Amino acid sequence: MKILVLNAGSSSLKYQLFLMESSEVLAKGTCERIGAGGFITHKRGDEAYSEEVDFPNHGVALEKVLSLLCSKEYGVIGSVKEIDAVGHRVAHGGEKLKESSLITESVVKYLETIVPINPLHGPPAIAGIKACLALMPDVPQVAVFDTSFYSTVEDSRFVYAIPYEFYENDKIRRYGFHGTSHRYVSAELAKAVGKPIEDLKMITCHLGNGSSITAVDGGKAIDTSMGFTPQEGVVMGTRSGSIDPTVVTYLMKTKGYTAQEVEDILNKKSGLLGVSGISNDLRNVFSAAEEGNYRAQLTIKLLVNSIKKLIGSYVAEMNGLDALVFTAGIGENQSNVREMVCENMSYLGIEIDTDRNANFTRGIPFNITKDGAKVQVWIIPTNEEYMIAIDTQRLASK
Ligand code: AMP
Repeated sequence: MKILVLNAGSSSLKYQLFLMESSEVLAKGTCERIGAGGFITHKRGDEAYSEEVDFPNHGVALEKVLSLLCSKEYGVIGSVKEIDAVGHRVAHGGEKLKESSLITESVVKYLETIVPINPLHGPPAIAGIKACLALMPDVPQVAVFDTSFYSTVEDSRFVYAIPYEFYENDKIRRYGFHGTSHRYVSAELAKAVGKPIEDLKMITCHLGNGSSITAVDGGKAIDTSMGFTPQEGVVMGTRSGSIDPTVVTYLMKTKGYTAQEVEDILNKKSGLLGVSGISNDLRNVFSAAEEGNYRAQLTIKLLVNSIKKLIGSYVAEMNGLDALVFTAGIGENQSNVREMVCENMSYLGIEIDTDRNANFTRGIPFNITKDGAKVQVWIIPTNEEYMIAIDTQRLASK
């Protein structure tokens, strides 16, 4: 079975074509600058191809993707008919779409109704789905939501302590994001330690440019750090993570900023970039810190503290912990962050083997637990696209 996985952003369209029998990626690529020029990079194995193309919208970008996938020079299939199903990454499924779903007219209509609470990611996802329905009307399409892993979170952990009408009428609540990644790595961790997921309490740390931490008890998410939007929680590349909300109104009152300006500051100019003044890429922040830059050193401390606090609170919520998982760009690659996060956590049973942590093998589940420690600590590479392909295969085969 061949499954095309699509991830539509506001000006981008990422794709991967999977051969499910061998879990192989036949081809993958990215369309960029959609709506403002256009550029495509396409990879088949080690061969890479790129081209400037005019992409006025996601539909034209998708046409280009399909023609490349079928082309003699760079293609991997003879015709679009070989694509058995399409899986779409959809950031937000609102309160109703609690699991991955076959895309029907009513699913698209519901996604349109929740655009107000998902203004950045909703419209491109819907555009990607509509483009696919128009170009491949007979191919089953599946939507996989970042939020659906959190459908098991209880109301006492998703309702904010603001007037209840804002939840009832405006649907303001914690939704959580990156769920597909947390779902994938929690299942992989259970496989790696050879125990049923139902018997495990774990905390999964997805640390990348966007970061989130999730408490998973018995395979079910019970709490997560991102909230109404992906703004809440850990310090991120350019996002502040959790702050006192009064900072927003104070900035508006004293500086005359508009709501949009404050949102841009907290979303695009904060986090690692905002505090260090150097970069949203942690590698650059570390280089500056090593040269003695105070703000870079402070940034790293803020990041590590924000992660530690969440780990502690989730251990408290679950009354224990069997495994701690690190994933995504920082989690998978930055030994120093893993070491700092796990430092002075022996009270909770978290202790890592610093040699194994420093000399880890990339790209595979890797155990960095100190011998005899109570909590297993693992690096698990995430693979959201493959998780989307698996859900798509399951639903499309029904
Ligand atoms: P992501 O959003 O998952 O791509 O993660 C981006 C973050 O991961 C950046 O802050 C990078 O510093 C970090 N990162 C990504 N790849 C590497 C790598 N190979 N080595 C060290 N850090 C990395």
